[in-house]
Amino acid sequence: MILIDKKVFKAMQEFAKNNHPREIIVLLRGKREKDNIVITDWLLPPFGTGGNGFASFPTHMLPIDFTIMGTAHSHPSGRLTPSATDMNNFYGRVMMIIGPPYDEPRGAAYYKSGEQIPIRFSPQQ
Ligand SMILES: [Zn+2]
Repeated sequence: MILIDKKVFKAMQEFAKNNHPREIIVLLRGKREKDNIVITDWLLPPFGTGGNGFASFPTHMLPIDFTIMGTAHSHPSGRLTPSATDMNNFYGRVMMIIGPPYDEPRGAAYYKSGEQIPIRFSPQQ
């Protein structure tokens, strides 16, 4: 399970919305808690590029940072399944995909195996 603060998620959605229809990609920062991954923050990757179809960054330019749990990127189409390119460029433990409509908590997350991970937003209503 991925646990993410609603406000943190919302800020990420705002960023995606402001860049629509370009894709955005961010790094997810957090920690492991037993079998869960807690996302506490997100940040822009150095030298990230957004574009139509694929957003990426050169992973070799990243510092070794064990608080980076993975990435999140947007699919302006709204389809929340990873593409083959996504899976070939997997970085970190988890990959989150967000898409419109951006005004509701909407996203999907995956392990490198392709297995989907449930996302829980906190605080819960
Ligand atoms: Zn993608």
